[in-house]
This record gives sequence, structure tokens and C-alpha cells, in this order.
Amino acid sequence: MTLGRFTIAICGLVFFLGVSPGFASRFDALRLQALIEVDETRETIDRIATTLWDYSETALLEHRSAGFLIDILEASGFRVTHGVADMPTAFVAEFGQGEPVIGMLAEYDALPGVGNAAVPRRQARTDGVSSGHGCGHNLFAAASVGGAVALSRVLSRESLPGTIRLFGTPAEETLVGKVYMAKAGVFDNLDAVIDWHPSTRTGVRNQPGRAMNSFEVEFFGQAAHSSADPWNGRSALDAVELMNHGVNMMREHVNPTARIHYVIPSGGEAPNVVPEYARVWYYVRGVNREEVGKFYERILKIAEAAAMATETTHKVTLISGVHEYLLNRPIQEALQKALELVGPVEFTEEEQQFARSLQDHLGVERKGYDAEIKPLSDSLEPVEGGSTDVAEVSYLAPTAGFQLTTAAAGVPWHSWATTACHGSSAGTRAAVVAAKVIAATGVDLLVDADLIARARKSFRDATEGKPYVSPIPADQAPPVPRSETDGRPIGSGLR
Ligand SMILES: [Zn+2]
Repeated sequence: MTLGRFTIAICGLVFFLGVSPGFASRFDALRLQALIEVDETRETIDRIATTLWDYSETALLEHRSAGFLIDILEASGFRVTHGVADMPTAFVAEFGQGEPVIGMLAEYDALPGVGNAAVPRRQARTDGVSSGHGCGHNLFAAASVGGAVALSRVLSRESLPGTIRLFGTPAEETLVGKVYMAKAGVFDNLDAVIDWHPSTRTGVRNQPGRAMNSFEVEFFGQAAHSSADPWNGRSALDAVELMNHGVNMMREHVNPTARIHYVIPSGGEAPNVVPEYARVWYYVRGVNREEVGKFYERILKIAEAAAMATETTHKVTLISGVHEYLLNRPIQEALQKALELVGPVEFTEEEQQFARSLQDHLGVERKGYDAEIKPLSDSLEPVEGGSTDVAEVSYLAPTAGFQLTTAAAGVPWHSWATTACHGSSAGTRAAVVAAKVIAATGVDLLVDADLIARARKSFRDATEGKPYVSPIPADQAPPVPRSETDGRPIGSGLR
């Protein structure tokens, strides 16, 4: 993006908004300043993107990643509260004072098993790290922190009233971080929240994703020799298999909006020992909490029946649950305008070649990166994709997000291929653009009281004033992995 093009776009926006010239010129100057500040922050954004990609720490183990972000935010004048909501890798960084209070979200957890070198083919990293940023959360954090720092500089230079609150939200991939932070009241008293996510496309999605429950079922049987005295054994693995079979039968008789998937993290140790313990981990999704609840109840019945049939006992643990995303049209429109002002990511020919090589390797169409900005749909788009714990934030404050192209078109998401893209120069280039959209929208929200009022009204209309209800029990603690010897969170103290 060039400054010239931005100025032309700004003039167009002023005309479009029909605001008074005095207000408009101040408004434009602030937006312009924010964009220049992001350019000044480019080196920091790059450093975050590459360092977090190198770390590739998975859910609730993001100690070095969180520490790295906290150091940068503190050095930039943010006041940081560490370890919020009983999660050592969750934090809140605040700048400025008074109202409005503008929230921004940063995610930084990686995915297990999708690690790859930053090359357009399947190639393990030489340092042995097998996890990877297949969802691009390294860029998510880089852009959000970069955008927040840039905005904070505008805020202090112009002595504007208002508070920026940057939330360091761990464990998005397991849909844990924001659920427990929401339950602990961390997202209370916000006027608006800006969210974004890496993608293979660019635009503001007008669809709410899916509500979801994440839960595990443990079965307890009796070990025995599988050949010498199998009649003395009761197989916990049989119970898991029977439960899964029952759920697979159920699939035909649920609404097509349902998504149900499982893995078996524990299914016995050796074929000649009847497994006395087995565990299956499920995700069940639907269009809203009500639908998820319906499917969940039926699956619990199947689990109970499987235990009964195999003469085992069982225990269900609801690990996490999320709502569908509550859309906020006024903030969506502000984000769309900011996207169009900033312009699409301008990938270099070399980066497009990287994407095409990746697409050749995977046998998908050679489209390169698709950076074109899609229009904001007037009507609700069909529900697709997964779930996000940002949904919990959207039930507590007016929230909206955008997607930005960070990975080659058509490549599988959550894969080694997206990890490769997110570790390349194209990833950083996209993060800088995302930071600009965040900073420009941040200016809108800080300065335009009418936008805040409309966002608040949209939120009130959608929630009908009902209080937020967490999908998980009030007294449930987050599943922070702890050492068996001293109970301390695993990896804490790493920086
Ligand atoms: Zn993600």
C-alpha cells in the first residue's frame, strides 16, 4: 500500500460518510498516523511472527510465546497483568485511560503434528519441532500486538481519552483460553472488540460459525490376560469402540448441520492385556448452543449404554464449550471500510511462486495467493468452517473480525502447508496489513462515538439484554498441564 493511494481512499471515505470537514480531516489525520505507526512497527511485527513460528508452542504451553509478547508490550508502555483466569499463559495488557475501552485479541498457540520448514513441500524442521502454526496464530499475535502498539502511539501523541486492552488469549485450538477468561470476567466492561484471523481469503465473513462442546469419556474395566483368562477381563476399549459405533449410527439421524469427530488418546497398551482404561475425546458442533446441547445429550446416552453393554464404568468430562459467533454489523462495516482503505496484501512475485509450488505439490489449482478483498455480504452466509472461542467474547461485548490472506488458495488448513506459508515472508507481509486494518478500525472506535453507540445497540438487540452464561460449570478450572511431581504448570518459568 502506498500513502498516495491511502490518501485518495481517505478522500473517498470522507465523501462517502458525509461527515463535517473539520471532524473528517481530524479523523483522517488520525487514521493516517495510525497507518504510519504500523509501518514504523514493521520490524517488531516481523520479529513476533518469526519468533512465535520458531517456538510453535501448543495450547497452554505457550510460555515463551506469551513472555515474548509481554516483554514487547511492557517495553511499549502497556501495563500487563500476567496469568489471568488461572492460566499462566493468559495476560491482559492495557494502555491509556478512560472510555471508550477497545479490546483486541491475540492468539499464539500452535497445532501438534503440523510442523514444517518454511518451504513449499513436506519437510520436517531441522530443530525437531513437530508442532506448527498451521492456523497462523503467530501472525494473529504479531498483527494484533503491532496494531495495538501503533494505536497506543497515536493515543498518547494526541492525548486522546480511551483505553486499549490487548488480551493474550492462549489455547484457542482447544477452545479453552477465552472460555475460561470469559467465565472469570476478564472481558467485562468493554465497548468494542476487534478480532481477525489468518485465512486463504480476505474479507469480513457474515456467518456465525458453529457452537461446540469438547468433552472426553473415560471407561474403566478390568485387566486380564487376553488369551489365558479373557473371561476375567472387561475391556474399556470395547466400550470406546461401542460408543463410537453408536455415535456413527446416530449420524444418519441428526440435522445435517451437525459435526461430530473424535480421537482415541488412550486405547490400551498391548494386545495381550485386556485394556482396563480407555479414553475417547469428542468435539460435537451445531449451529447454536441449543443444537449442540441436543446432540450432546444423545451422545451421553450412547456412552452410558456402551458402559452398560461392556460391564465397565465411565466418566464424562466437559472440557470446554463455545457459542456460535454473535455478529455485530456496525463493527463489521467499519472493518470492511478499513480493509478497503488499506488495500489487499501485495505479495511479491517470489511469494506467489512459493504458493504455486505448494499448490503443484498438493495437486490443487495454481492460483497463488488470493488477496482480493471480498465484499461484505448483506445477507447471512451459509455456516461453514469450525468454531472459535472468540464467540464467548462476542456475547460479552460488541465484537467483529476480519480474515486476511496468509496462505495459498486451496491448500488444506491446519496442515503442514499452511504452517509453511505462515513461516514465510508472505506471512509477515500479511500481518503488517492486518495490523493496519486493526489500527485504522481502532481509531474509528476511539474517535467515533456514534459507531460505538450503534455497535452497542446491535449487541443489545442480539442478546436481548440476557446475561452471558458460560457453557462450562462455574467451578471448573482450566485444564493447565501440571507436573505430576510438584503440581506446577509444565513449562512455567520458560522465557
Ligand atoms: Zn485459529
